[in-house]
Amino acid sequence: MTTALAPTTSGALTAQDRCDRCGAQAYIRAVLTDGDLLFCAHHGRRYADSLRQVAVEIQDETGRLAETPTIAPIDER
Ligand SMILES: [Zn+2]
Repeated sequence: MTTALAPTTSGALTAQDRCDRCGAQAYIRAVLTDGDLLFCAHHGRRYADSLRQVAVEIQDETGRLAETPTIAPIDER
């Protein structure tokens, strides 16, 4: 048996994956029938509605942003 070809790049997005719009690190991959589009969190949200209409799959890793230690506002009770 031969190993099947992987049709798309799988796995987590890396620092080498860049937003197609602004070049920032990509956190959203939209898998289309003819290729992938990569977006940062900002542009991923902006195009989310239209992407859902054309993408066969949307890989959203924006949750990883929350794992980054930042100065979080503490205004919840
Ligand atoms: Zn962007």
